Amino acid sequence: MSNDLTRLTAAQLSAGLRAGEYSSEDVTRAHLDRIEQTDSVLGSFLTVEPEQALATARDVDSRRAAGEELHPYAGVPVSVKDVVVTEGIRTTAASRILEDWIPPYDATISTRIKDAGLPILGKTNMDEFAMGSTTEHSAFGPTCNPWDTTTVPGGSSGGAAASAAAFQAPLSVGTDTGGSVRQPAAFTGTVGVKPTYGSISRYGIIAMASSLDQVGPMGRTVADAAALHQLLAGHDPKDSTSLSDPVPDFLAAVEAGARDGSLTGKRLGVVKQLSADDYDAGVRTAFTAALDLAQAAGAQIVEVDLPSLSYALDAYYLIMPSEASSNLARYDGMRFGLRVEPESGPVTAETVMAATRAAGFGAEVKRRILLGTYALSAGYYDAFYGSAQKVRTLVQRDFAAAFEQADVLVTPTTPTTALPFGMEDDADPMALYLGDAATIPANLAGIPGMSLPAGLADGMPVGFQLLAPAKQDARLYEVGAAIEALVSDAAGAPVWAGVPTEYAADAASTTTSA
Ligand code: GLN
Repeated sequence: MSNDLTRLTAAQLSAGLRAGEYSSEDVTRAHLDRIEQTDSVLGSFLTVEPEQALATARDVDSRRAAGEELHPYAGVPVSVKDVVVTEGIRTTAASRILEDWIPPYDATISTRIKDAGLPILGKTNMDEFAMGSTTEHSAFGPTCNPWDTTTVPGGSSGGAAASAAAFQAPLSVGTDTGGSVRQPAAFTGTVGVKPTYGSISRYGIIAMASSLDQVGPMGRTVADAAALHQLLAGHDPKDSTSLSDPVPDFLAAVEAGARDGSLTGKRLGVVKQLSADDYDAGVRTAFTAALDLAQAAGAQIVEVDLPSLSYALDAYYLIMPSEASSNLARYDGMRFGLRVEPESGPVTAETVMAATRAAGFGAEVKRRILLGTYALSAGYYDAFYGSAQKVRTLVQRDFAAAFEQADVLVTPTTPTTALPFGMEDDADPMALYLGDAATIPANLAGIPGMSLPAGLADGMPVGFQLLAPAKQDARLYEVGAAIEALVSDAAGAPVWAGVPTEYAADAASTTTSA
């Protein structure tokens, strides 16, 4: 019984809870049991909160029994990336510098989740301060990909993605600054969405690069991502970049997309610069097969040219570290978080800051702070940060032109399927940076993107990315639902259903590079 409930989607759980087939306590307990059975191998969670989760579940159950009008997803549990501030629950951003930090307040999205009555199972693992593509940069050890525990789940929202893929949580909250929701979704056969910049509040999200960061919903189906997006989105006066537009009906878009013929006449633009040539053969085959299914269902395939994309990665790796170096200045050992005094010499503000930051930050974080501080320094600001911002405008213009020719753009989410452990330490860190080529442009332009599973290559999931114009996130859900249905009909089952369920036993003997 308990494991069966973990196999249901959030939409199914929402329906079952409302019909009284089981309680939120049953559902929450099933997921907590699943976490207990599997997480010593997977490492999806940094903190699990059984007591708080069950208390929320019981509260929802009793309010439902009393006939109270509840949020439709009340009682459906969720996992939350450890970059989201949660009052009373340890929040680390996977960094030693925040190892013991228990926030005194909630992020706006934490409040929304709590108000809607979704039990928070715990906080998921990630690359430190969301910097990375593998979750190996977590200060507390890596997360394994449930499809093959010798591979990474992607990053930086690797714990979030693994928790959804491994049936530890039906819904999961991630963040995406350059691909950190979409890339791990691709690696784990789940659905991940990077919404339009400003559509989900960033208040209480530990900042990496403020002009690029967005919270993103994750789940095993397009409909589940839509439901979570609906719950999280909306104007927040506490975030000055928050959009005030009304939130579209994403679930209606999913329903429209699932209807027969919904793709008829839809123009899917294949991005020339992110053409399948640079991609692994297996990724290419799965991507093309999904595209062929869409075409057979009536979609029109066009090629679009975005010449400025060749500069997008370079611009990102100036803007992101610049903003990160400024955001991370607040970890100084003075106000909150870790405080380390120098081993010798005088104890001054400066020496405490230096000792704290030397001990508290990992290598990748230090690398990016150095890069960003350099790029922002007097005399270099215009040459580096200024030029990168200009590239950003060019990328936005290219997207605007491409969306004249196509309703959505399509690319493989990543050039490869899940990578083995150890790439972060290998001689070629650039290989990992290049892996973000297809995801980063959306963050630079502020437009929404989705990764959904397009099948398997050598037994590992392949991600299919959709991009839409700003504020047209509903288009992702409509087209995404259509493609999801085509891919799972062709395969006879959704991709995520195939996650090897026996991995826990197999993996006991597998060692990963911690
Ligand atoms: N992999 C990218 C990076 O390392 C993206 C990270 C993110 O989206 N948070 O910067």
